[in-house]
Amino acid sequence: MPSSILFLGSGGARFVVARQFRASGGMWMRFGETQIHVDPGPGALVRALAHVPPCNPRELAAIALSHKHLDHAADATPMIEAMTSGGFRRRGVLLAPADALAGEPTVLPYAQRFVERVERLGPHGGPYRIEDVELRTSIAHEHAVETYGMHFTYGELRVSYLPCGRYFDRLAADYAAHEPDVLVVNVLRFEDAMKVDHLTWPEARRVVDEVRPRVAIFQHFGTKMLEQAPERLAQQLEDDLGIRVIAARDNLLVDLDTEVAAVVA
Ligand SMILES: [Zn+2]
Ligand SMILES: [Zn+2]
Repeated sequence: MPSSILFLGSGGARFVVARQFRASGGMWMRFGETQIHVDPGPGALVRALAHVPPCNPRELAAIALSHKHLDHAADATPMIEAMTSGGFRRRGVLLAPADALAGEPTVLPYAQRFVERVERLGPHGGPYRIEDVELRTSIAHEHAVETYGMHFTYGELRVSYLPCGRYFDRLAADYAAHEPDVLVVNVLRFEDAMKVDHLTWPEARRVVDEVRPRVAIFQHFGTKMLEQAPERLAQQLEDDLGIRVIAARDNLLVDLDTEVAAVVA
């Protein structure tokens, strides 16, 4: 069965999400029969259902959050309702850092009870089994809230997702150790004098250069990244590194088997 990632959004950061310059529906991943929705931000449910052909929340095996910020988690509760038929069919797995589930939770507690299993993510956690997929978490990211990357394994295919957070020395090594075929990287900022909570484009390049996936996909763009035309930056990096580099757009469907096979050949 084929594997793919459908980008129900490719935007990040407050302004882009607030104005919906780019959508913020997260990634709908398919590994054969196993479907996982990662980071359902604002509009995720509407985007999923409006897609042609539609993504069916009742077929989801899991909903996974990298962290509790609303651009990654706002639609987690409506998506759980959709996955569980309004709570009438208890099913599926919810994976999220502990601070997204308690305290000031971004997944409402009543909906947490609708799923069959809740996994509280921590650093270097797992493997968590989601049907045919195994998920492990990354090193803790340096971000304002608990944030973890995700390493998915499905048969021979390895896909890693590097969510928001600032650059630090051991970050790339943690992802390199998992030897992903495909690496999805959130890059909000083009460049920055001040140290903020997100990767800049030069830092994202550096991470990809160190991890050396077969295919790198960038997403979660802020205003300054969008001004720089992410497709152009991706093409430059592809020429520089000799790996496949893709800049996500809203509703982009990446067929993982085809992309990985094209690089191997
Ligand atoms: Zn974000
Ligand atoms: Zn964030």
